[in-house]
Amino acid sequence: MEVYRCMNHSDEPAVAQCRRCGKPVCEQCHDQETGRCRYRCGEMSYGSSMPVQQRSTLWTVVVSLLAILGGLALLLITICGAMLFSY
Ligand SMILES: [Zn+2]
Ligand SMILES: [Zn+2]
Repeated sequence: MEVYRCMNHSDEPAVAQCRRCGKPVCEQCHDQETGRCRYRCGEMSYGSSMPVQQRSTLWTVVVSLLAILGGLALLLITICGAMLFSY
């Protein structure tokens, strides 16, 4: 029977499989809390870079929408002013 070895330590027997990448990991490399390998997938789970990026994208959309609305309002005011002055 084949014994799985840790992907980081070739002399350590694997005690678990990473929940994310499925690689065998030893006790040292296995993160009990997340069930992931500590060095490859564990760090990614803590960094919340995706939500921050989505939030900033949302803000960019909101700001650009406001800018467009402001520009339209300015255009309307200009047109109304021109019409008022033309009479
Ligand atoms: Zn992993
Ligand atoms: Zn290991």
